[in-house]
Amino acid sequence: AKESGRNQVQYFNSQIYAKIERRIKIEKHLRKALERNEFILMYQPQVNLLENQIIGFESLIRWESPELGRVSPLEFIPVAEETGLIFPIGKWVLQEACRRNKMWQELGFPKVTIAVNLSSKQFYDHSLKDQIHSILLETGLEPQYLELEITESMTMDVQVAIATLNSFRNMGLKIAMDDFGTGYSSLSYLKEFPIHNLKIDQSFVKDISTNSTNAAIVNTIITLARNLKLVVIAEGVENVNDLQLLQEFNCDRVQGYLYSRPVEASQVPDIFARFAGN
Ligand code: C2E
Ligand code: CA
Ligand code: CA
Ligand code: CA
Repeated sequence: AKESGRNQVQYFNSQIYAKIERRIKIEKHLRKALERNEFILMYQPQVNLLENQIIGFESLIRWESPELGRVSPLEFIPVAEETGLIFPIGKWVLQEACRRNKMWQELGFPKVTIAVNLSSKQFYDHSLKDQIHSILLETGLEPQYLELEITESMTMDVQVAIATLNSFRNMGLKIAMDDFGTGYSSLSYLKEFPIHNLKIDQSFVKDISTNSTNAAIVNTIITLARNLKLVVIAEGVENVNDLQLLQEFNCDRVQGYLYSRPVEASQVPDIFARFAGN
């Protein structure tokens, strides 16, 4: 028993050691990733259900590291936040997203919004507003075509969050509450937040046609959003049965693999073409 206890301790130690090692590697290579152009921005369409038209794209970052391979944003964004690297990375995402959206408009595609995920560090950074203002000027993108995605966990400081969101709203930007339903204490504050869109988290949207609990939750959120005059977006829509139920629930917009996986900028014209003439 003593022997196996010691083995377990060694096992846990080596697990912890492996995690620390990975974390150090990520940080080391992340520091050079921006200047070495290792980031790619991918785009996933958002579709208006009533008209079956693309009304926006969400931008999603990818990191192709020569040393580590493809690293998920779920793994490197937290490291970027801890190290402060999120500031230059986040700025690059905003620049790239706005530049691309303006480019698509100039190519003559229907005007859509480009949604950008903000980290809480960015959200509480006082220079973010000026940064976005400069990026819009540089790229020539009008503010109503940029949407900022925030999450419930970022709005813990309710008064500061409301003031920040109001200043973005006054600039003409769109604001979406992302991953809705995964946080807590949010319901009571939701009506106080000056947001435009509500994105239902994919964990609730998943399998609504076969999971009656999820279906009830999604239906309730859609009704709530409607009462608050918010546009509601269901994320993670993967099959036609789930889509049909979302239509019955009068969901405004959907996003998910059923329509398209996130694609590179070069594939965006094909996606516009697929929806043209609907
Ligand atoms: P998120 O903002 O909730 O993004 C949605 C995630 O769901 C994306 O994963 C997307 O590829 C995936 N997804 C879309 N449709 C489906 C579907 O039908 N089924 C399933 N199973 N998944 C679907 P991804 O790209 O790996 O991003 C993960 C998270 O990383 C994002 O979650 C977001 O929190 C964060 N992230 C991504 N890009 C950025 C960024 O530029 N900045 C910041 N701060 N965070 C980002
Ligand atoms: Ca998002
Ligand atoms: Ca989300
Ligand atoms: Ca998420």
